[in-house]
Amino acid sequence: MFETVTLDIATIDFPSEGELKTVQAAELARLIEVGVTSLAALLGKPTGQVRTQLGKAAGIKDFARADIDDLREAAQTLRLRLNEPSVRTPARLPRMQRPTGMGQLPVPRTVKQAAIAMSCGLCADPIKAGEIIGRTRNPKNERLHKTMGWLCQHCLYERREKPRRRDVLLRVFHHLFANNAVDLNAYECAVLSIWLLEDPHVAGTASWQRDPLTATIVRLQTSQQEEKATTWIAFPTARTIIHVLRECAVTPAPADAELLDAITQHLHEWDTNPQGIEHRRYGRGPGFHAQVLQATDRPSVLSERGGPFDLHHAPPPATEKEAEDA
Ligand SMILES: [Zn+2]
Repeated sequence: MFETVTLDIATIDFPSEGELKTVQAAELARLIEVGVTSLAALLGKPTGQVRTQLGKAAGIKDFARADIDDLREAAQTLRLRLNEPSVRTPARLPRMQRPTGMGQLPVPRTVKQAAIAMSCGLCADPIKAGEIIGRTRNPKNERLHKTMGWLCQHCLYERREKPRRRDVLLRVFHHLFANNAVDLNAYECAVLSIWLLEDPHVAGTASWQRDPLTATIVRLQTSQQEEKATTWIAFPTARTIIHVLRECAVTPAPADAELLDAITQHLHEWDTNPQGIEHRRYGRGPGFHAQVLQATDRPSVLSERGGPFDLHHAPPPATEKEAEDA
């Protein structure tokens, strides 16, 4: 028996963690089939049972319909199992508290512990192996929004209740990407107004001089005080906000600064179309933005992730009174 096991491991030849990061969907699906068959032989269990267990561990109901992010995580999970067949993935995850009200985010489609170290599919924060990751359900409007990859715990649960500066930036970016006005909840309005007013000379920046944000700041502060679930920021104003933040004299945290630079760069590319993406073919909306982003000669955490992403709207107001006030 021992010899058979050794022989099986030697003949599996499963790719390394690093190799799996670059394998495409069809090959991942093939590797998973090979790996599942090998693991079943190692454990002396039926292939179907091992496949179902892997599906449960990786959050996949139907392997034929799984996308590349799901398949990659499943392949990494399988690789760990092949290396240590006796080690079972802990079945129970800690029960996560989902915020309520305007900070709420939809129930994730699947949640698991990361098989390997990775980075968040939205905010790009590093994720360690074993930390909670999850995927959202497919976007409601699949023609407009793209499906996000594996998200970190903060992006899954807390990004709207305890928004960081870069959560607000990402929200602005993905709304501009989709050619939409930006909707912010009271928490996000607070983060943004405090940031904008951090530099006492902010009104002297060239972008503010061109398009003063005085009324916008008042709206953001009012929304914060009145705890409004939704405040709409018009498209041109959202762009001005990005430019003003970039011009501010107060140096942002490195992660915020990097994101601000990337957004400014991509907004500029959408305006100037340096790679000559055909408007005739892609129009001037999100499809065009996606092509320009993909063709950029200076890739960023944003262009690597694509989009636009549906970052969720606050739940509809519970009463007519609230609807009038919103
Ligand atoms: Zn994240």
